[in-house]
Amino acid sequence: MTVSSEFLEEMKKALLSEKSRMEMELARFADKTDIPGDYETRFEEIGTDRDDNATEVEQYADNIALEENLEGQLSEVNEALSRIDAGTYGLCVCCGADIEEGRLRAYPAAKECMACLKK
Ligand SMILES: [Zn+2]
Repeated sequence: MTVSSEFLEEMKKALLSEKSRMEMELARFADKTDIPGDYETRFEEIGTDRDDNATEVEQYADNIALEENLEGQLSEVNEALSRIDAGTYGLCVCCGADIEEGRLRAYPAAKECMACLKK
């Protein structure tokens, strides 16, 4: 398969919109650090009584888990975007074969073909 430029353009658009969606999501509860692509969850003060403190801690823990999840996804998206620039997008990083178009449509940041994913 040779990836057509239309398809590439479409995937790039999808990746960029994913990227901004994730960055917005992260900005709701986390701040960027000096390291590119790294975020730090803010500790939100809700109140000072015991219940408020418990809620704060719980929410903070939830947000940290969410932050890690989003950060991971964001780095996959950024990697996919750099593969587009490098001209290697759509090739499996594992075996070098073409990644199925349907798989890329479903998950534009995919870096492995179905066969390698199942390994
Ligand atoms: Zn592969």
